[in-house]
Amino acid sequence: MKRMKLSLRYLIVCVALLSFSLTLISSLLSGYDTNKQTLIANTLETNRMYAEKLAQATDGFLYTTLQTLSVSAAEIATIMDDEAALLKEADRLKMQTNTFNSVAITDPSGKVLATSPQSLDLKGRILTSPESKEALEERRPLISKPYTGITGRLIIFISYPIFDEQYNYLGLVGGTLYLKEMNILNEILGEHFYKDGSYVYVVDQDGRIIYHQDQSRVNEVVDENPVVRKLMNGERGAVRVINTKKKDMLAGYSYIPTADWGVVSQRDTEVTLAPAKEMLKKMIVTSFPFLFVSLIFIIWLSNKIAQPLHKLAYYTENSTEKNQEKHIAKIPAWYYEVIQLKKALVHSLAILHNRINYSTHQSRTDSLTRLANRRGLEEHMKKWLEEEKPFSLILLDIDHFKRVNDTYGHAAGDHVLQFLAMQMTETAGPNHICCRYGGEEFVILLPDTAQQDAVKVAERLRSKMERTVSPCGDIVTVSAGVAAYPEHASDLDGLVAKADASLYEAKRRGRNQIVAFEPHDVIQA
Ligand code: GH3
Ligand code: MG
Ligand code: MG
Repeated sequence: MKRMKLSLRYLIVCVALLSFSLTLISSLLSGYDTNKQTLIANTLETNRMYAEKLAQATDGFLYTTLQTLSVSAAEIATIMDDEAALLKEADRLKMQTNTFNSVAITDPSGKVLATSPQSLDLKGRILTSPESKEALEERRPLISKPYTGITGRLIIFISYPIFDEQYNYLGLVGGTLYLKEMNILNEILGEHFYKDGSYVYVVDQDGRIIYHQDQSRVNEVVDENPVVRKLMNGERGAVRVINTKKKDMLAGYSYIPTADWGVVSQRDTEVTLAPAKEMLKKMIVTSFPFLFVSLIFIIWLSNKIAQPLHKLAYYTENSTEKNQEKHIAKIPAWYYEVIQLKKALVHSLAILHNRINYSTHQSRTDSLTRLANRRGLEEHMKKWLEEEKPFSLILLDIDHFKRVNDTYGHAAGDHVLQFLAMQMTETAGPNHICCRYGGEEFVILLPDTAQQDAVKVAERLRSKMERTVSPCGDIVTVSAGVAAYPEHASDLDGLVAKADASLYEAKRRGRNQIVAFEPHDVIQA
């Protein structure tokens, strides 16, 4: 079953990318948010100040207007019977002050004595609206609520009572503002209309719109609007609000005490925040190259960190790999964990290999003579056979060894075996391989050596043994058969059999001699 393996590299890349993008996003967003808050705060403050300023201007204007009317009322008291003078005064009020859309002078019953312009054709008619009645009854300066006047227009009536010197009530003088037409409010407030989504409107104490940039909205009651509610309580300030048109607005508002009105200067929040959004876009675009470079760098760095560990893991997984140690030694270790892991791995691999070498050596060595044993011998021969390397083989056997054991004991026999092994290694050349084939039989392998040369080596050994006293205190001789590869056999067992045949022949001829294998003999035998 194959299992998906998560690699460290991908994990690092993922973690790095995740934290990188989170940081980026959060810094972008917090930048955007700060920007947004600043814009909102600034706009609120600007609108609050505008509203304040407009409220003062409007209040000042209303105050001045009432003053003008009061001066006029005092003058009118002296000319009440002079029709022409009244007309003149009405015209003067309208023309000189340039405040009112129309001017009217009435007697205490509300009968119109004079108007300007005269084209209104109201002379002699009686003002009947509740607003004009209120002004006549209360006999004090009044700024009316918006109402539909006798001419059918939506108006505000600003009036002043006329008294003579004995404080007899003679009537009133007043001017109108045509709310749905150009009026003085447009002049005071209209210049503060900005194309950037800001605008101004004025409401009366009932929440009714008196002035609005969009004239069709005049006379609309917007007392649901939280800002208008605050104004109706006589408050001033700035607030973010959803208006009656369900629009998110940043509104500054202020109170106009003389008329009990309120003025609102506001700006669409969305329009206000557009630059912040634009800036966010710009930041994203400008940070893109940086982002790209960072990405490449993150991937590169992740690779650099993960690669040594990945290689360590790879070469440990494939522990049968031949040059495992070499590969591991080549891994670039540049940080603590990898350095330590690599050290530990190289160290334990060295120990392991020593152990393996040692036990391989042990399993191929004869413990009594320290020569190669039959397994060692077979390995050498196998290799040479595969390589088709020519070599000769001497098969040696101690003569009458049973007798040695019987006469001097088994331990002495062992010493003789060790002694012969020593003589073998001394006699053999440096690249000759001496083995204990089993019991008291030995083999010498002679690479790249012709049979006759091998015979010479065997002869030297035989003669040496013949002339030397063995550890048992007696002379011990040897017999040997010599065969050669590839002349005499093509495989291991065949070659040993040929040498054994010659050895047998040597024994038969009387021992202590060397017999070279000859195919001819065997055929004869
Ligand atoms: P031949 O000349 O015909 O070879 O006579 P031999 O006595 O050497 O022949 P045989 O094969 O009958 O005897 C071999 C003896 O070698 C038998 C055994 O006791 C002895 N032997 C085999 N291995 C060892 C050993 O490791 N140590 C000792 N001390 N003796 C061994
Ligand atoms: Mg024997
Ligand atoms: Mg023997």
